[in-house]
Amino acid sequence: MTPGGARRTIPTRPSLSTQASDLDPVHAVLDTVVQAGDGYLGTIPAGGQFRIVDLHGNQAVDTLFYDAADLTNRYSAMDTIREQGAVYLAAGSRLLSINLDLLATITADTCGRHDTLGGACAQESNVVRYGVHTRHQHACRETFLRYGAKVGIGPRQLGHNINFFMNVPLTATGGLTFADGLSGPGKYVQVRAERDIIVLISNCPQLNNPCNGWDPTPVRLLGWWAR
Ligand SMILES: [Zn+2]
Repeated sequence: MTPGGARRTIPTRPSLSTQASDLDPVHAVLDTVVQAGDGYLGTIPAGGQFRIVDLHGNQAVDTLFYDAADLTNRYSAMDTIREQGAVYLAAGSRLLSINLDLLATITADTCGRHDTLGGACAQESNVVRYGVHTRHQHACRETFLRYGAKVGIGPRQLGHNINFFMNVPLTATGGLTFADGLSGPGKYVQVRAERDIIVLISNCPQLNNPCNGWDPTPVRLLGWWAR
């Protein structure tokens, strides 16, 4: 909370009667496939619907959202978790920024749970976790920086991310574990942009834990908005 400042009013949670979306891929204005280990950078205008499809199942899609008008106003895992009172993301989750602005809302989700605690893999963390022989394996942080550079997103603009389709269950004692098994082929998650936002994706190349089922695979991105 801002010291001495008035708390900003956060929009209330929308009611969602279904977890699936009836938008037709035939009418999508964005339809592209991101290969395993590759990335994506794009802008979603306010009101636009953006869907990520886990084509083969068990693929972690590391994702960052930014206010397109102010890149310092980026997605905040901490504020999102606190305000929704839950650690997992699902249909209805409101994705807040560090300024408590609503960036996007999850409007459809056929997977059921998404992580925002586990962070993104990096060459450095791979070495710590899995050994020096992983030092030169490609990692999400490098993809974020490579694609983010196109709009001026550098190391200082990388915050805690969302891992769509990734299963990081909390243990009874509060520990974090990397697990497998929630997503499946064709499952998808969809967000509605609540303002003009930039989406930055790393389709995770991790080979050293089960977050990608030990086999990174492509995902499909779809978008619906007025051009
Ligand atoms: Zn990764």
